Amino acid sequence: MPTEKTRVLIVGAGPVGMVCALALNRRGIPVTVVESEPAPVKDQRAATIHPSTLEMLDDLGVTERIRDHSLLSSTYRFHDRPTGEVVAEFDLGRLEELRFPYVLQYEQYKLTAAIAEEYAGESDFDVRFSHTLTGLTETANGIEVEYTSPAGTERMSVAYVVGCDGGRSTVRKLAGIEFEGFTYQERFIKIATSVDLRTIKPELSFRNYFSDPDEWANVFKVRGESAAGLWRVILPIGHAEDDATALSPARVEQRLQKFLPKAGPYHVEYINVYGVNQRVAATFRQGRILLAGDSAHVNNPIGGMGMNGGIHDAINLTDKLAAVITGQAGDDVLDLYSRQRRHAAVNYVQAQTIANKRLLEERDPEVRRQNFDALRRTAENLDTARAYMRRAALFDSLQDAAAIT
Ligand SMILES: Cc1cc2nc3c(=O)[nH]c(=O)nc-3n(C[C@H](O)[C@H](O)[C@H](O)COP(=O)(O)OP(=O)(O)OC[C@H]3O[C@@H](n4cnc5c(N)ncnc54)[C@H](O)[C@@H]3O)c2cc1C
Repeated sequence: MPTEKTRVLIVGAGPVGMVCALALNRRGIPVTVVESEPAPVKDQRAATIHPSTLEMLDDLGVTERIRDHSLLSSTYRFHDRPTGEVVAEFDLGRLEELRFPYVLQYEQYKLTAAIAEEYAGESDFDVRFSHTLTGLTETANGIEVEYTSPAGTERMSVAYVVGCDGGRSTVRKLAGIEFEGFTYQERFIKIATSVDLRTIKPELSFRNYFSDPDEWANVFKVRGESAAGLWRVILPIGHAEDDATALSPARVEQRLQKFLPKAGPYHVEYINVYGVNQRVAATFRQGRILLAGDSAHVNNPIGGMGMNGGIHDAINLTDKLAAVITGQAGDDVLDLYSRQRRHAAVNYVQAQTIANKRLLEERDPEVRRQNFDALRRTAENLDTARAYMRRAALFDSLQDAAAIT
């Protein structure tokens, strides 16, 4: 069985796994990434990279590479869907202290592919597709892993395993770590259209949150595969509606026309329906097994925090793991990783995404009015707008987590 005292096995070549691999590799730690799928997964999920994450990716040399292939968006808007009013606009461009006073709208599959293309392929950054992790056994000096590949069942021995294998994480289950939280009753539908929605509703910025007691909505522009870009509309699906109905072209057309009426049908590029969970792993570390990204925490996508929080895990972890492997720190810093990032997940990402959903779906007219007044006041004053935007961009979560010892 191949054995290496310093190699780290990363399970999952999603955005968190690939950033984790790159960050470790940059510190001279050899990595192997195993990924079940036969090639980088082209999934239409996260597309917003917040300024805090852009700083981390910049330190790895990634931000400049991807910027010209992204949409830059400094503003986001809250709308009252029933009245059509723009309630508040927040502009990251007002925050002069930021290295990147905007988000990049850059789909996660492109980030994963960009890292794989540019950096992977060396023996110390070895990415193996069609490899599925199936077993983990901790030994006195390392951890033995078992995986299936086109060649059959294979084993290797490594120093540490990082589970970046998503919400249904095999690593988390093999380690017996609880995934605490809840599942929302309703599912979400994401519809992407090549129709330029600003020709129908000029008040749209590239990122929009629509409050509506009957049917809230999120609307975002992403780059897609052409310069014209794509608009994504995210809506809730009631539990009485089945997937086949929700995905039917007639129902999709009806929903888009109800939301943003226009002459002629919508051209739809892709549609996804997905269940939504709010869950956090009981610990992000068990011995030589570590969790990062969706394997450690999942949340609703309102606010675009899941992938960003996962990349923040990867950066926090790789600093500490490299120090442990090179003998500059004891392995108790890995417990600190778990405490810091679990704190950020629970107190910021979970709290904020749950609050975001409540804000959009609020039914009580008086509470809606108060919420809108509060948003308007917050946006108008630079100090309160700054505090709001820094929290939403996860800067506060990083600062607060760093203070944990
Ligand atoms: C519709 C939607 C919209 C979203 N929008 C945003 C957004 O705007 N901003 C944001 O920050 N987040 C967003 N998110 C969340 C974001 O997509 C996730 O947080 C992100 O994908 C997590 O990345 P990850 O690398 O941890 O996991 P994943 O992207 O899930 O990657 C896990 C990988 O592990 C592989 N794998 C699984 N099991 C094994 C195994 N046993 N062996 C080997 N490989 C394995 C899988 O094939 C997969 O490639 C959104 C999510 C959804 C569903």
